[in-house]
Amino acid sequence: MINQQVRVRFAPSPTGPLHIGGVRTALYNYLFAKQHHGDFILRIEDTDSHRFVPGAEAYIIEAFRWLGIRFDEGVGAGEGKFAPYRQSERKEIYKQYVRQLLDSGKAYYAFDTPEELEKRRAETPNFQYDAATRSTMKNSLTLPSDEVNARLTKGENYVVRIKIEADEEIVVRDLIRGEVRINSSVLDDKVLWKSADELPTYHLANIVDDHLMAITHVIRGEEWLPSAPLHVLLYRAFSWEQPQFAHLPLLLKPEGNGKLSKRDGDRLGFPVFPLQWQDPHTGEISSGYREKGYLPEAVVNFLALLGWNPGDDRELLTMPELIAAFDLEKCSKSGAKFDYKKGEWFNHQYIQAKSDEDLAQLFRPIVESHIGTVPPDCPLTKIIGLVKERVNFISELWEQSTFFFVAPTVYDEKTVRKRWKEDSAQQLTELISVLESVADFRAKPTEDLVMAWLESKGYHLGNVMNVLRLALVGESKGPHIFDITELLGKTEVVRRIRNLIATMTE
Ligand code: GLU
Repeated sequence: MINQQVRVRFAPSPTGPLHIGGVRTALYNYLFAKQHHGDFILRIEDTDSHRFVPGAEAYIIEAFRWLGIRFDEGVGAGEGKFAPYRQSERKEIYKQYVRQLLDSGKAYYAFDTPEELEKRRAETPNFQYDAATRSTMKNSLTLPSDEVNARLTKGENYVVRIKIEADEEIVVRDLIRGEVRINSSVLDDKVLWKSADELPTYHLANIVDDHLMAITHVIRGEEWLPSAPLHVLLYRAFSWEQPQFAHLPLLLKPEGNGKLSKRDGDRLGFPVFPLQWQDPHTGEISSGYREKGYLPEAVVNFLALLGWNPGDDRELLTMPELIAAFDLEKCSKSGAKFDYKKGEWFNHQYIQAKSDEDLAQLFRPIVESHIGTVPPDCPLTKIIGLVKERVNFISELWEQSTFFFVAPTVYDEKTVRKRWKEDSAQQLTELISVLESVADFRAKPTEDLVMAWLESKGYHLGNVMNVLRLALVGESKGPHIFDITELLGKTEVVRRIRNLIATMTE
């Protein structure tokens, strides 16, 4: 039972498009927050100016808007009482905390230049700046205090490092993994602050902000587990209460061997980003779930089940159902294979569950991109009703229904060879008269009349129906033929049959 106000955060660094694994992390934070009637915060961790990519922050905000994952506070979510939520705007705040660590002896100044550090690394295999080596380096623990002061006054570049004592046991309590114990001697004295850009590094900014923003649970990817012992030490150094940690399992390649990467998506043809992204430097475009024709509900459902399940055989869960069923402590410890085919299955299910009217709204712009304005009498919803069970993506609706909008001009050769007989033109001409005589052109009455005619003439049903399909669709695919005739209407059907006869008898 959690009896404090739950506050969780998603804290991306705007270094490019958001990876789908990051979306899963944010989703788990959101589900957890909403289940506990808590707050979900978006904090932008942009203290590494070298890795900053323009447009990445806006992309992140838009991705969550599309997915229906809402933040209660933070960048893009209006003001909150812990603003600002962009770390580059919190420079002054961090300064006092660095000062505090220096004053209490938990951190120290280090003046080693990049060249000196490189030299040392080259000389000493597996060199680590730590309790065993810091006494041989240039820092405020080894230099006389007047020299330290002189260097600081001169404005020489320095970093502030955490002072980690050797051989202490550090316990990270993780809600998913239980207790993770490590010995402090394996850790290095990480840099917390750099005078060059007057900014803290990730570790310090992250801890200070989680504390100041009253974060109760840190839910993040497994790749941050190695940083957790350092974070525990920082909480200790400040004498702050720690949040609870939960490190989520990695998303693995579909084959299960190693971490999911963009290359896997390129290789197998699935997106690894929620939205399409164009790299501002190279111009390279990476595909996105939205542009590929996924419904946001399907993406959410698919991602939610990568690393967690409701403990019964339910697979299709709405957001409120996910919120009710989610259980952080039941997340798996081992990586989750990224079964993108399952993602397609989810999308198929969600498309089938959507009303034809809603699908028509999503489909209309696609049709318009092909044929311009959709005529007001176009039976878009009915067309969708006929083809939707064949598609996994909204975009595929077009492939399945092109012939409703554009009459065929070429005819599938194989079908022609198999079905076009000497008497086909004659039979089609007769069929035109039959169709013209139909008073009610809806599927059933038309079908009855055509069938009666076929029977009375003893014509080969398969051949006649297939050439009719050839005339209307251009190939032997598509929904029930009389559903097609109904939607195309008599005039268009007759026009298409005439076109086929003309082409074949030229
Ligand atoms: N800025 C880190 C990231 O990019 C945050 C990690 C954390 O949640 O502590 O994922």
